[in-house]
Amino acid sequence: MICEFCGKEGARVRRITESLGKGAKLLVIEDVPMIFCPNCGQSYLTAETAHQIDAFRRSRKKLEKRSVDVARFDLR
Ligand SMILES: [Zn+2]
Repeated sequence: MICEFCGKEGARVRRITESLGKGAKLLVIEDVPMIFCPNCGQSYLTAETAHQIDAFRRSRKKLEKRSVDVARFDLR
């Protein structure tokens, strides 16, 4: 895969879990295809992926409800 930033071959897709917002607004998205480039160190989402994430945020009612364990660092 060609990197969009440096134009070199070698960029790879890694599936990550992304969390957006917090508290009652927390949204967890699993298996987000993040692209990592070992040449320039960039990690980025394709426009298509970013668009899909936007769509998930807008259509929350259609999303799967799961109870999750949330850990938080103490700010003090
Ligand atoms: Zn690159």
